[in-house]
Amino acid sequence: MEKIKKYTNGEHYLLVNAPFYKRRYSVDGDLIIGCTIGCQFCYYRWVKGTSELIGTGNLRKVATAETMLKFVENSKIIRKNKDILMLSARSDASFQIKEISNFLKIFPYQNKIFVLHRGYFSEKTANNIEDSRVVYCTTITPEGYKMGWTPIKEELQIKGIEILLKNNIPTNRISIEVGPINEYTIDKAIEIINILKTLGFQFLTYRGVSIGNFRVKPQENKLKKIKFKTKQNNNAHRMHSYYKIKNFISEELESKIQSIHGIRLHRFTGTLYKNEFNVEVAYNRYNKYRKEMGQFSTNIDTNKIASYLNFLGYNVYDVKLTEEGYFIKTDNYVTEDIAMTVGAEFKTSVIFDKYHIAPTMEDIKFYKKNKIFYISKEIFL
Ligand code: SF4
Repeated sequence: MEKIKKYTNGEHYLLVNAPFYKRRYSVDGDLIIGCTIGCQFCYYRWVKGTSELIGTGNLRKVATAETMLKFVENSKIIRKNKDILMLSARSDASFQIKEISNFLKIFPYQNKIFVLHRGYFSEKTANNIEDSRVVYCTTITPEGYKMGWTPIKEELQIKGIEILLKNNIPTNRISIEVGPINEYTIDKAIEIINILKTLGFQFLTYRGVSIGNFRVKPQENKLKKIKFKTKQNNNAHRMHSYYKIKNFISEELESKIQSIHGIRLHRFTGTLYKNEFNVEVAYNRYNKYRKEMGQFSTNIDTNKIASYLNFLGYNVYDVKLTEEGYFIKTDNYVTEDIAMTVGAEFKTSVIFDKYHIAPTMEDIKFYKKNKIFYISKEIFL
């Protein structure tokens, strides 16, 4: 593997090296990094350290089932029996069914395991990773094949979903995202959502367009030529160092999607996980209260919040309930990874006086010292 001399920040470092690398509403990770499918809009094309692993046939094993388990056991940020673990977040499950099945066999906790699988579901998927903790996840990209965005065909993906249903996997254990959607693909998106409705699906997620950059510039001309990048605004949070455009969908397109009745359509995974999978999630995002999540808990013993932060390695100076959530003063910077863990632990909104949207390299030292993520020589490159 190419040695990276410089990382943009700690988020970039974890993304290239760690089995689990990010915590938002779920904790995201992989046994293998890279993907043979090679969608043109894949985030990991725009990251130095993973770009050479997308659509080239080169893959990198990042953990064995055993080291992955060790990583989970020793990472405080992963709440055992509680958090959703997302597998194949920087890859695809379709070519690593055996590895995922090995992990499931030794994983002793009751966390829900979301397995991302864009390739076609088959009898093999249904049989080899069937485990009551598994939620089968896929992304269907409307017109994706026709537009040259991905080699995966929507009709065959739907056939694969029908195979799961025939194998008695219920619709509430299949999580489907429809996207990325833009003005050229909206009609097909609506058609696909209606097909899924007739198959019995009661909820799904839809997604707009995202484009990022960690030291590998997106090929904007190509993305424009294939009509992926069109008139989207650079809507990503100004402090975001990776995203320029994040999950962008115009109001006009969104209202078309929301006019479909008889199926619950989620814009954010936070409401999906909370409402459809009954999982504890944070009500804060980007150091603000995310109103879409509903009312956050307000009757929490502030000493408990402080001691949970102590456990994570912080000294807490003050915790005060405000209209935006619990406002907390600490001795060190709290990252989005940590803020979302604390928010989930108390099913509330937590806002910090010292906050980083993504970990810096300094924050990685803090993560290592306090075993936020288990950053150790035996696992890391
Ligand atoms: S299937 Fe997912 S991981 Fe693979 S290339 Fe497409 S977007 Fe990237």
